[in-house]
Amino acid sequence: MTVIACDFGGTRIKVGLVRSGYVLRQLAIDARSSRPLVERLAEVAAAVQQLCESAAIRPRDCNGVGISFPSIIDPDGRVLGEFGKYGPVAAEDFTRWTESSWSLPAVIENDARLALIGEKVAGAATGHDNAVMITLGTGIGTAALVQGELLVGIHGQAAILGGHQTVVVGGRQCVCGNRGCAETEASSSALPRILAAMGRSDLSTLAPQYEDVFKAAASGDECAAAVVARSLAVWGTVAVNLVHAYDPSIVVLGGGVMRSRDIILPAIAEYVTKHAHTPWGNVTVVASQLGDAAALVGAEWLVDQRLSLKA
Ligand SMILES: [Zn+2]
Repeated sequence: MTVIACDFGGTRIKVGLVRSGYVLRQLAIDARSSRPLVERLAEVAAAVQQLCESAAIRPRDCNGVGISFPSIIDPDGRVLGEFGKYGPVAAEDFTRWTESSWSLPAVIENDARLALIGEKVAGAATGHDNAVMITLGTGIGTAALVQGELLVGIHGQAAILGGHQTVVVGGRQCVCGNRGCAETEASSSALPRILAAMGRSDLSTLAPQYEDVFKAAASGDECAAAVVARSLAVWGTVAVNLVHAYDPSIVVLGGGVMRSRDIILPAIAEYVTKHAHTPWGNVTVVASQLGDAAALVGAEWLVDQRLSLKA
């Protein structure tokens, strides 16, 4: 089976050709996710075309297109609650696009779920039937695998709203309508507001990155160190809450913010060991092995699962 995989992130759109859990080729383009999705699809199609040519594979010889999207996807494949990324999106936008471009069917699933499946198939969660994923990026995505089954829920939102757990009662207003969500207290999208509120917009370029804040903290900037300490505590809290909710044996941490994994991984592992109530033993906390490719690998599983079942 060869699958075209498209991962629509908040910052970049990654496309790949995936076969047997292995990404043959991949490339990324700027997401410009403040623009409507339909305006981005022509450029994504061109990227797919380029990949296929470089791999000498004809798109129409692929088995389908697996789409990873940062939103709630219900069990019927409908896109719900896009949280301001890519404007209003319907699943039909994707199916029309893949059918008219390559005569291929499309299937769509939440991005953190596919990242978790990718790590289960060929990465850090191999051999684990009970696992949770946390992706720290533009936002915070989560997903859970319980006794080998990916949790989806009746409306499609089971386990994926870990970034919208309340971690601060009466905290900052979040795009989801709640206050004090993890994502609005500590994520790349929240960073400009967090830095501005501390009077440290100087740490904030047009697109401030956690990497810059980690670096400033390491060189003795007390304000940056405070942001780092608070962010690590928020992410640790998310991990503990997921452990309490889903009983995993492993927690996998992924997403672009994990470029600073040397700092984040030991801090969250320590936080979980200290705070999670797991009388059966210790939860393993690891970094993603597949990185950007995790959701692409998961997209192959999605096409195999959903389209093979239909065939
Ligand atoms: Zn929220």
